[in-house]
Amino acid sequence: MMSLCLFPIMEVLTAVWRNMTFLLECMKMLSSWCWLEVFGTKNISSSKINAPQSSGRVKPVSVNYHFTRQCNYKCGFCFHTAKTSFVLPIEEAKKGLSMLKDADRTRTTLQVAVLMRHISEEKHMQRTCVDNACVKKKRCVVYAFAMRCALHRRRRAKQRKCERMEKINFSGGEPFLQERGNFLGKLVEYCKKELQLPSVSVVSNGSQITEKWFKSYGEHLDILAVSCDSFNEEVNKLIGRGQGNKNHVEKLMKIRQWCCDYNVAFKINSVINSYNVEDDMRDEIIMISPVRWKVFQCLIIDGENSGEEALRQAEKFVISDEEFKGFLNRHKDIKCLVPESNQQMRDSYLILDEYMRFLDCRNGRKDPSKSILDVGVENAIMVNLACAKFSGFDEKMFFKRGGKYVWSKADLRLDW
Ligand code: SF4
Repeated sequence: MMSLCLFPIMEVLTAVWRNMTFLLECMKMLSSWCWLEVFGTKNISSSKINAPQSSGRVKPVSVNYHFTRQCNYKCGFCFHTAKTSFVLPIEEAKKGLSMLKDADRTRTTLQVAVLMRHISEEKHMQRTCVDNACVKKKRCVVYAFAMRCALHRRRRAKQRKCERMEKINFSGGEPFLQERGNFLGKLVEYCKKELQLPSVSVVSNGSQITEKWFKSYGEHLDILAVSCDSFNEEVNKLIGRGQGNKNHVEKLMKIRQWCCDYNVAFKINSVINSYNVEDDMRDEIIMISPVRWKVFQCLIIDGENSGEEALRQAEKFVISDEEFKGFLNRHKDIKCLVPESNQQMRDSYLILDEYMRFLDCRNGRKDPSKSILDVGVENAIMVNLACAKFSGFDEKMFFKRGGKYVWSKADLRLDW
C-alpha cells in the first residue's frame, strides 16, 4: 500500500532529476558559449602561440598538400625538390586533413551533439512521460532552450560551411611514387568518402599512373592534372621531364583515355620556360580538350631552384614577362587556358609541405610555419615565424587568378 502511494512521487522525482542533469549541462554549455562568443573565432587552446590581430581571417578553402618531395623526373626548374625523403604515416596525414576540414568546427561539435541527444530525449519524454503539470512546464522551458541553442548552432555551422576546406589537391614530388600510388589512393578515398570534400584533385607527372589505380580509386577523384610542357619529346627531354626512354606524351594520351573511362576530369599543367616558350601547342590542346590548361611562368624560389643550398639551378629556364605574354598571345583562342604569372603564383596557394607546415613564399623562398599537427590549423596559417603575419597566402590573389572554379566532377559536364 505504502509503495503504491510513493510511486507517483518517485516518478516525479525521477523526471525532475532527469531535467536537472540536463539543466546543469545547459548551464555549463551556456558559460562556455559566452566564453566562445567573447573570443570570437580565436583559438582558445592552451597553445602559447598568440595569433595576431588580423583584419580578416584566412580560410583554407583550397589546400595543396605536397606529401612527398621524392620524384623520378629531373625537371631543371623544379621548385619543390627532394630536400627530404620524409612522408607522414598515413594516419597522421589523415588526422591533419580532418583538422583542415574541421578547422573552425571542432569546438562546437560536442556541444551540438549533447543538445541533439537531449532534444530527442525530450521528444521521447513528451510521447511517454507522466501527466504532471510541474514536470511538463519544466520540460517546456528546457525544450525551448535546447531548441534555441540548436538553432543558433545550426545557423553558425551554416555560416562556417562556406569557410571550411572545399578542395584538397595532392602534389609532390611525384605523388604516385609512395607505395605505388596506394598511399595517394587511400588519401583520395578518405577525403572523398570520410571527409566528403567537394573536390579532390591530384597533380602528377603521369609516369607512374596505371589503369589499376583508376579501377581502385578513380571514383573518388574529381580532377587529375598531368604536367606536360611540350608535345615535342625532345623538348621534354631537354627540360628533364622524363625518365629513360619512356615517352611522356604517349603516357599523357593514355591517362587522358583512362580519365575518360573512369569519369575523372583531365587537366594539363605546363611550365613555360626558355625551352618551350616558342612552342605552339594549340592543335594538341584542342584535340585533347582538357577541362583546364594551367600555363605557369617558370618561377624561381630561393633554396629550391636557386641559391647555394638548392638542388636545382633554374636561372637558365627563366623567361621575361614579355616572353610569357607572347606565349599566351599565341594561345589566346584556347578557351580552357588559365595563365599564371610569377606574381599570381607566388602568394596565391595555400601550400602544406610533407610535415604539414604551411609554406610562405612571399620572400622568394619557402618559409615554413609550425605543423598544423602541433599547433592547429589557425595558428599555423596565421603565425609566420618571422613577422607574425599569416602564412603568406594572398586570398584576394587566389580569387583573382581564378583559384575558385567548378572543381567537383559532380558539377562538371564531362562530355568527352
Ligand atoms: S615532375 Fe614535378 S616534382 Fe618531379 S622534378 Fe618535375 S617539376 Fe619536380
